[in-house]
Amino acid sequence: MRIVRGRAPTSMATESRTDTFTGTVWGDPVLPTTDGTTINSVTFAPGARTFWHHHTHGQVLVVTAGRGWVCSAGARPQVIRAGDVVWVPPGERHWHGATVDTIMTHLAVSLGPTVWLDEVSEEEYRAGLAAMPEEDTDR
Ligand code: MN
Repeated sequence: MRIVRGRAPTSMATESRTDTFTGTVWGDPVLPTTDGTTINSVTFAPGARTFWHHHTHGQVLVVTAGRGWVCSAGARPQVIRAGDVVWVPPGERHWHGATVDTIMTHLAVSLGPTVWLDEVSEEEYRAGLAAMPEEDTDR
């Protein structure tokens, strides 16, 4: 067993994610690995999201706070909220992020290299508004 203490003082500083993300995104390394797996707690400000991408060996997302959207290529964005778990199969093109008016934090376990593609356009992103289930629209 190995315990990694949260917010270690000398390593694992929170990183601002900019190159392959739109908006304000913070990545917190959770557990250093040497086998190509990355484990990060990622917080998206309202409106923030990843670029389109895929994961060579897949990805598990565990939503730990807030509400967000996840979207596979060719499908509509779907709402995800705290407690939801998402499995993204190897090679499936997708994006994930916050909704327009809420933060979203998820634990992201990425298996193998991530292949980054184009930015998610405002139109593609805002398709999430139309996909919002009835119980999630309170305005
Ligand atoms: Mn992903």
